[in-house]
Amino acid sequence: MATDRILIVGAGPTGSLLALGLAQQGFQVLLIDQQARPDLVERSRAYALTHSSRRLLQRLNLWEQLHQFSSPFDSLRLDDRVLGLTAWFRRGDLRSGNRRFESIGWILDHKPLMAELLDQLDSNALVELHFNADEVSCRHFQQQADWIVAADGAYSTLRKSRAMTFWTHAYQQGCMTAKVSLEGAQERCAYELFRAEGPMAVLPLGGSDYQVVWSAPLQHCRQRTQLQPQQLLQQLAAILPSGLRPTALLDRPGAFPLELSLAPRLNSSNLLLVGESGHRCHPVGGQGLNLCWRDVSDLLDLTASKRINGSLPAHLGRLYSWRRLTDLIGVLISTDLLIRLFSNRQPLMLPMRFLIIKLLAHARWIRRISLSAMTDGPGTLWSRLPEYEQRIARHGDQQRSPTPAEPRSTQFSSAKNGAE
Ligand SMILES: Cc1cc2nc3c(=O)[nH]c(=O)nc-3n(C[C@H](O)[C@H](O)[C@H](O)COP(=O)(O)OP(=O)(O)OC[C@H]3O[C@@H](n4cnc5c(N)ncnc54)[C@H](O)[C@@H]3O)c2cc1C
Repeated sequence: MATDRILIVGAGPTGSLLALGLAQQGFQVLLIDQQARPDLVERSRAYALTHSSRRLLQRLNLWEQLHQFSSPFDSLRLDDRVLGLTAWFRRGDLRSGNRRFESIGWILDHKPLMAELLDQLDSNALVELHFNADEVSCRHFQQQADWIVAADGAYSTLRKSRAMTFWTHAYQQGCMTAKVSLEGAQERCAYELFRAEGPMAVLPLGGSDYQVVWSAPLQHCRQRTQLQPQQLLQQLAAILPSGLRPTALLDRPGAFPLELSLAPRLNSSNLLLVGESGHRCHPVGGQGLNLCWRDVSDLLDLTASKRINGSLPAHLGRLYSWRRLTDLIGVLISTDLLIRLFSNRQPLMLPMRFLIIKLLAHARWIRRISLSAMTDGPGTLWSRLPEYEQRIARHGDQQRSPTPAEPRSTQFSSAKNGAE
């Protein structure tokens, strides 16, 4: 039986995870990236993972390995620094399906994540990996593929090559990320601080190490990356809640622009946009990578359920695009509203902000709805958590996967002839 051959362009966290999921379902996957393997692994970044990402990693049997490198947090402190008000989210505010886990979320460093993903891909007989891929080889592989997935990030050349509609709005704000040592922080606590120049997240990396994600006008972010470590730490100390004291800078800070963008159609013929090639949002609430991974999860649901004799139906792209729309629009609009509402000192906005923080501080059901939207996605608010459905989905995937995996000799470039 010939299975569809899938080319994934971009081996970032989204492309790599999708490659693994598709190979686990028995598809032949070629994963290519323009970067060299060490450069792909060596980025200095940390991601805040939500329960939707935890579920996907569990489903792909990666959770046990990655969990040991992650730092869980079981409380989230939300401050309006203009009004001086605070609301706390705790584990008890999670929906019941998530509450049996030890945390609200986890912070995972890019390096162990990518190292584990690439190791797993190396040992899967249905996956071929190509690094340092140039445009010529990319075009060559596209001709051999039944399906092409663009996981090549926000500036996707594949999306541009098909002239797909892409709406984008550049925020006035940029973002500076830095790893720092902090004294005085509450254990296993993450902070989201709404400030007039933009939100700031302080995320626990384990011990006294924290990742700071500091949104502000892009020019200010860039200037801050040029400061001497002591000057930067002083500026940080001046705006953190009292009691928190930064003591050392642990990496080289980086600044990058922020955008709100969406491809309203995530498919064009046999091309699918997955991850940041199809959408991008403000990092407030740590939604970015989780949203990308929900693309992966939904696409894997479809490839598992719609496959007939190893082939995927021609309308797969349309189904995928429709399925993702509510979640994407929900997250993009809600993160944008948060920025519009909280990144200013406008007197007309303050009563609304006062009300929101007070409600969050005092009404558990509001915290539960907000946390559920953040951690599971807004689309799950009125439905049962996928937790219950996963056992069925997993069972279905296993039934459909060919066992044992085909040998390495079924290489992507020669597979079609060999398999047929
Ligand atoms: C500078 C920066 C810092 C960030 N810091 C954080 C952070 O601290 N915390 C956080 O949660 N999020 C952070 N983000 C956002 C986060 O990195 C993204 O949400 C996440 O990386 C999206 O994953 P992805 O796999 O869709 O895209 P990417 O990670 O961008 O991966 C795209 C991959 O495609 C490859 N590629 C691109 N074009 C081609 C091509 N033509 N051919 C072959 N390969 C190609 C690239 O080399 C890359 O490996 C940051 C983003 C940026 C830009």
